[in-house]
Amino acid sequence: MNNLVEENLNTVRKQIELACLAANRKPEEVELLLATKTVPLEKLQTAMQAGAILFGENKAQELRGKFPLMEQYNKVEWQFIGHLQTNKVKDVIKYVTLIHSVDRLKLGQVLHNQLVKENRTMNILVQVNTSYEESKFGVAPEQAIELVEQLAQYETLRIKGLMTIGKLGATNEETRHCFRLLKSLQSEIKERNIANVEMKELSMGMSGDFVAAIQEGATIVRVGTSVFGERYLPDSYYWDESKGD
Ligand SMILES: *Cc1c(COP(=O)(O)O)cnc(C)c1O
Repeated sequence: MNNLVEENLNTVRKQIELACLAANRKPEEVELLLATKTVPLEKLQTAMQAGAILFGENKAQELRGKFPLMEQYNKVEWQFIGHLQTNKVKDVIKYVTLIHSVDRLKLGQVLHNQLVKENRTMNILVQVNTSYEESKFGVAPEQAIELVEQLAQYETLRIKGLMTIGKLGATNEETRHCFRLLKSLQSEIKERNIANVEMKELSMGMSGDFVAAIQEGATIVRVGTSVFGERYLPDSYYWDESKGD
């Protein structure tokens, strides 16, 4: 089973490389983040031994459970990709180097207050709901720029870019539309030259659509199933609006 994880990892790496070449991009421009929700420690360890560096978790509790393993691998980094409840902020920032899912001002405010207390900063991405699906988190595209401007006022938050989940089970064209929308928002925000906003990163693309995302400009792809196999919990458990705050 664990050899399979390594084999899958190598296949995905190869696919990323080919997608970059096809899109006339350098493979170093795209980072592979492994999405590890529900994945057992054993498989994680295999991925770490095979040289995987970036890992993403959706829930504070799972992150806490998996963190000790990571400490044995000094290059490994955790990032947070799930819906972040304000009461979990203090816990989550102990472990991660980047939060992909900042999607409301209130969350920015709570993050800022906690970071001030701890006298530190945090890298964040702003999550945009480019598919307009009600079940998904993320700020509406029309409100994304305003949110970035508001968040930029919190000097502890280093805004590095945008994140989205493309429309799932949709046509290739519909999914690409999500990625293009994110890319165009990135360009618009860049043009505004907002202080404290970098906009270098585009976190988009999952197992089913990372090749398309790379063609549309992704700098971080978040892959779970293609490396670790099918999950036993449906994604709605992690993404459903009714489960959040
Ligand atoms: C689970 C998850 C992924 C990975 O999804 P796969 O389809 O398994 O590759 C990526 N991003 C987020 C936010 C996720 O929750």
